[in-house]
Amino acid sequence: MAKKALITGIRGQDGAYLAKHLLDNGYQVIGCDRRRVDLNNWRLEHLGIENDVEYIYMDLLDEGSIFRTIQRTQPDELYNLAAQSFVGISFDQPLLTTQVDAIGVLRLLEALRMLKPDCRFYQASTSEMFGEVRETPQTEMTPLNPRSPYGVAKVYGHFITKNYRESFDMYACSGILFNHESPLRGIEFVTKKITNTIARIKHGLTDKLTLGNIDAKRDWGFAKDYTYGMFLMLQQDIPDDYVLATGQTFSVREFVEIAFKKINVDLKWEGEGLHEIGVDKNTGKTYVEISEKFYRPAEVDLLLGDPSKAKEKLGWVAETKFEDLIDIMMDYDFKDVENSLK
Ligand code: NDP
Ligand code: GDP
Repeated sequence: MAKKALITGIRGQDGAYLAKHLLDNGYQVIGCDRRRVDLNNWRLEHLGIENDVEYIYMDLLDEGSIFRTIQRTQPDELYNLAAQSFVGISFDQPLLTTQVDAIGVLRLLEALRMLKPDCRFYQASTSEMFGEVRETPQTEMTPLNPRSPYGVAKVYGHFITKNYRESFDMYACSGILFNHESPLRGIEFVTKKITNTIARIKHGLTDKLTLGNIDAKRDWGFAKDYTYGMFLMLQQDIPDDYVLATGQTFSVREFVEIAFKKINVDLKWEGEGLHEIGVDKNTGKTYVEISEKFYRPAEVDLLLGDPSKAKEKLGWVAETKFEDLIDIMMDYDFKDVENSLK
């Protein structure tokens, strides 16, 4: 009989890539959906799997819906990808973020403990837990020091998962994933904002890209590689936590420079701080501006992961390199904007 996987956050970036991988490997995939006004299913449609996933209504804020879902579906594997996942908004909605990203994990673990304790559980932990980093590069052993309500809530989700593994002998793992991007990334995240805006600049739909702190550095990989790593974590003999990362870090500024080259704009930087601008070396035209609006009350300056454990124990590596990731995202956005004009 086919294995049954339950995915929370099915309509998010990672939910789509993970569902595709599991379906390709013969799984029955059940996606948990919360009630939404907009029924847009573009990510699953892009991967051609919108009709292959079965949907069930479940909200991480609603305990009853979680218990009913576990009771009805009796999953073999549960991937908890649902979250209020945007760091910026977590400063505006800290309680909601905590309810979903921290207590939501506990609700799921409690339901599994009572109704399906042999279900394998994956928790989407994050490099944001390292926050103001205590060492570089960051490993599974690096002390956590989060810098946002999102990071703090995820620390709770991380440790409660470890606690249920140790207390109740459950197969529960956390993947400490560094930033991973793709054409299916949410538009509010900096990479997708950059690639989408540049594609719109190319077609004359806008003329500038406005950003916040462009000196922040991230270890950026491709989401499809990372969802494969999640799958591997649930196929081991012993449950454990793993860092998934590329082992390379780049600034937002570097991402912007490379991405603008795709529309033949060679940027140079002038001015400082909020007055800094990115100018086309050849024409003098300003393409990038800085605004306080996109700065965070507390910033994570540098993330750089050490994925050695995942490589050694899971045989996992981040296959897609930084420049290839930008190419993949830019190609998609060029076509996407072009199609929207037809
Ligand atoms: P997305 O923001 O793309 O997707 C999050 C999903 O969670 C959405 O489908 C959303 O539903 C759902 N969701 C939000 N609130 C609730 C709720 N109360 N009940 C049920 N579902 C809810 O995130 P990603 O796919 O990028 O990330 C997946 C997970 O990995 C997240 O937990 C994120 O925090 C974590 N992570 C992501 C990283 C990254 O770089 N992408 C890095 C490290 C960790 P809806 O579609 O209805 O809005
Ligand atoms: P995060 O690492 O989960 O916070 O992912 P984001 O893509 O939201 O942000 C990555 C980094 O880019 C952070 O350090 C942000 O402060 C920085 N950044 C700079 N300008 C922007 C912007 O306009 N939007 C976003 N989302 N981030 C920005």
